[in-house]
Amino acid sequence: MNRTGIYPGSFDPIHKGHIDIINRATKLVDKLYIAVADSPHKKPLFNLDERKEMIDEEFSNNSSIEVIAFDNLLIDLANSLNAEILIRGLRVVSDFEYEFQMLGMNRQLDSKIETVFLMADAQRQSISSNFVKEIARLGGDISNFTNKFVASKLRDKYK
Ligand code: ADP
Repeated sequence: MNRTGIYPGSFDPIHKGHIDIINRATKLVDKLYIAVADSPHKKPLFNLDERKEMIDEEFSNNSSIEVIAFDNLLIDLANSLNAEILIRGLRVVSDFEYEFQMLGMNRQLDSKIETVFLMADAQRQSISSNFVKEIARLGGDISNFTNKFVASKLRDKYK
């Protein structure tokens, strides 16, 4: 049985917590779409193409992963891709409430799509794009939190 998954997020920018979740998710599905949300309301630091490029750079050798951008309803996107598994990462207890609500709403929109929550390795659970950006802005070392390509893009942004 061919299983298709979708992992949505803002990825502004991708970090080692996301990468950990993606590597785990590829063990559960045959094809994984990483869906980068436009999220203009979040005022992202990187535009959609930049965020997509940083993910592509990390996973270019993995043919089971495809990076796409979206600005429509996630459930509609999942249906158009025949994705039946929605991947989400859980970091901290505070993620739970939001994720719980989102799952409930998505299930009412489409009960065929199953949400799977994954947790990253302990040392990656606390990583968030916002903290990575803040540390980079202040000139700190982000090599434990993201890859070299993203680190150089962040340096360029804050030059
Ligand atoms: P969002 O704007 O949806 O929070 P993010 O890019 O921040 O988008 O995250 C996308 C997904 O990755 C979410 O499910 C989020 O919970 C998960 N995630 C982010 N950081 C981590 C981490 N350090 N460990 C596990 N999951 C994470």
